[in-house]
Amino acid sequence: MKIGCLCGNTLRDQTDCIPYKGYLWADQDHYGFMETLQDTVQQALNGASNSDEVASRVTDAIWKKLLPLPRRTTYQC
Ligand SMILES: [Zn+2]
Repeated sequence: MKIGCLCGNTLRDQTDCIPYKGYLWADQDHYGFMETLQDTVQQALNGASNSDEVASRVTDAIWKKLLPLPRRTTYQC
């Protein structure tokens, strides 16, 4: 995808890890997001036998639970 900026620059969104692209969530969703993150980490810590298992559980939970939360894409020229 190409986005034309008012200054005439063209921003391209054709790959991952773009430095001028970000994500926003509404203030009203912020604390819900943080509570979900806290619960996710706490659940990952429960019953984990080592730090690798915790890291794996947290990473899996973030992909499954947190990324689908409402957010908006933003770009900065
Ligand atoms: Zn611009």
